[in-house]
Amino acid sequence: MTHAEFLALAREYGFEKVYFLPLDRYDLGSNPHRLVADAALDFPFASCVAALVFPYAPFTASERIPAYYLASNRAYHARKALIDRLRDAGLTVEKAEIPVRTALNRARVGAALRTGFISIEPFGTRIVLECLAVSDLTPLEYSESPAVPCRNCGACIKACPAGAIGEKGVDYEKCFRAFMETAAHPDRIRDAQTTYIGCEVCQYCCRANSHLEKSEPANDVKQAFDTRRLILGDTKQARSLVGKNMTSGGKLTAEAIAFAARDGEYCKEILAQSDSPFDAVRDAVRYANERYKTL
Ligand code: SF4
Ligand code: SF4
Repeated sequence: MTHAEFLALAREYGFEKVYFLPLDRYDLGSNPHRLVADAALDFPFASCVAALVFPYAPFTASERIPAYYLASNRAYHARKALIDRLRDAGLTVEKAEIPVRTALNRARVGAALRTGFISIEPFGTRIVLECLAVSDLTPLEYSESPAVPCRNCGACIKACPAGAIGEKGVDYEKCFRAFMETAAHPDRIRDAQTTYIGCEVCQYCCRANSHLEKSEPANDVKQAFDTRRLILGDTKQARSLVGKNMTSGGKLTAEAIAFAARDGEYCKEILAQSDSPFDAVRDAVRYANERYKTL
């Protein structure tokens, strides 16, 4: 298989670009996400790592349904299907969880932003990146290195609800995402959260994305994320759309309760969740009660 044939196959699954990177070593410090530190050691069969770029359209900034997590779940399934096709074509392939933004920066691909995201034209930061260790294909050289748009811009510093972004980058100990991995969110996050599951504020305000067309969630997605439905615990459809890993422990119900409490809606339905088996949901009911003493 040639690089062009690989790309053509990847495009069938929504990966619009593929970068063929060397099998590098990475200094990962304490490596909390257990990423691959030495690609050649972990994948002795491989001759390169293919970084796959899955672009998606953002929603409008007022939309609470998270465009990224919907896309991430689609990219996950697309990657699995692509691996099967590549293996059918005779390649040896495995998922490779390397620090992909570092690898792309090192290969002179994309622009490294103050927010820690990478912007790849023409998609900006609105991409999901997946990596595969692949046999039989050589790494390629790149020299994209587009101008970094952060100079004379501080939009993300102003917009970040956590105050996590400074001139030199993100303090990940303050970033909301660090506190949203499980279902239990601190009240300060329930007060300021703008989208389900994770925070996208610094992507919505980013210059690198200003040219992107916004889209609307499809009707089935809107129905799945109907606030009342999620409060009542009917989360199955929504979880199938965004993936189950990021939504366990009653997370979507707890988040829907917090959104509704802020909006002053669905008081009766929220109170009905007082006996939920999920700690996070009961805590969200407590949050709602404190927010609306009249509940
Ligand atoms: S909002 Fe501006 S400063 Fe922040 S990452 Fe985007 S371009 Fe850079
Ligand atoms: S994801 Fe949200 S909390 Fe984290 S740095 Fe971006 S805007 Fe701030």
